[in-house]
Amino acid sequence: MLIIDVHGLVPNTAEVTYVGRGGKHGWTNSALGNPFVGNDALVKYSAWLFAKIKERDEDILAALRSLTPTSVLGCWCCTANDNREPKKRRCHAEIVAAAWRYCQTRGLLNEIIESDLEAVREPATAVEEHLVNGGRA
Ligand SMILES: [Zn+2]
Repeated sequence: MLIIDVHGLVPNTAEVTYVGRGGKHGWTNSALGNPFVGNDALVKYSAWLFAKIKERDEDILAALRSLTPTSVLGCWCCTANDNREPKKRRCHAEIVAAAWRYCQTRGLLNEIIESDLEAVREPATAVEEHLVNGGRA
């Protein structure tokens, strides 16, 4: 899964799965947008996203189900297109990609199984690990 910066792109272009909030330069709001701001926005987002998954939020599950391994996730906070290396900022789309993989490997997007939901106990830890390790989404 690729994560790109949508600055300069035509809004709602078919090749990009926009995961940001709506109302900005014509991009349609995504259920996966990050409602948090500030230094701990990604940690809060991770906890929020996995809580939504655990409570079977249909908007969130539908958005995750629409993703594939070749999806291109677009967001404003991604700095992947900057020439600066290494990236100065992490993007919540990395958490979206990690959550998608997490759910895919556990079948959480397909069926409602209580024992599977139990597996979503410490997801934030797994995602924070991913972020710390700098894993490519
Ligand atoms: Zn982002």
